[in-house]
Amino acid sequence: MQCMKTEIFLASGNAHKKHEMEELFPEYKILTPKDIGLEFDPDENGNSFFENSLIKAKALYEIVKKPVLADDSGICVDALDGKPGIFSARYCGRLKTADGKILDGHNLSQTEQNALLIEDVNLTLKEKGFSEKQIRDMANRSCHYACALVLYYGKDRFICSQETLEGCLLYDANESRGTTGFGYDPIIFLPKFGKTVAELTEEEKNAISHRGKAAKILHDAINISATRYDLTNI
Ligand code: IMP
Repeated sequence: MQCMKTEIFLASGNAHKKHEMEELFPEYKILTPKDIGLEFDPDENGNSFFENSLIKAKALYEIVKKPVLADDSGICVDALDGKPGIFSARYCGRLKTADGKILDGHNLSQTEQNALLIEDVNLTLKEKGFSEKQIRDMANRSCHYACALVLYYGKDRFICSQETLEGCLLYDANESRGTTGFGYDPIIFLPKFGKTVAELTEEEKNAISHRGKAAKILHDAINISATRYDLTNI
């Protein structure tokens, strides 16, 4: 007899995130709003990864009334005081509109966003008086990914976890490397591995990544008490 997997909705339209979640939560069937023909684009107006993740999870739960997993994540660069952070998806570096307003980088390609992030960091370090050697020094190029996961499974009932992955930003966008992962992965270097995140295998990335670690915590929390967190009976 075929065992039906419990369905969990993922409050995202990002196919890469869906794929990573399928690997991280193999015993659940992951559905996105798109899978059921739903247009879903809530206003992510929170001030933190956690707030935005909760906004997305709750908004989708109100519609589907089934357990919803939401992910809000981004890259935080120390030299930029943690930016782009929650604005990573729409990051556009120092580009401005003709009248001086900050652009919405949603329409830029990821390759352009990667190059703009590196340029922004190099210029910022230069403006702070760092020498060329210091600008290239990985110690001054530290950054981390952060991922806040929320599993919302009933009115005012949710579990959350947030994790990070520490790395360094490459000095030159032309040195981007690797083909796995997505987003900023080809320009985030992991000194311990001697590789960029995009050079890791899927399994390696899931074992150490912000999303992988946050998912493991959530996964363990669900399993601590199968009855308390009975996702089939909400
Ligand atoms: P969100 O969909 O609003 O959470 O946007 C997250 C953005 O952060 C993505 O569009 C990527 O640019 C970036 N990001 C988050 N997690 C990762 C990752 O694992 N690899 C690369 N980029 C990521």
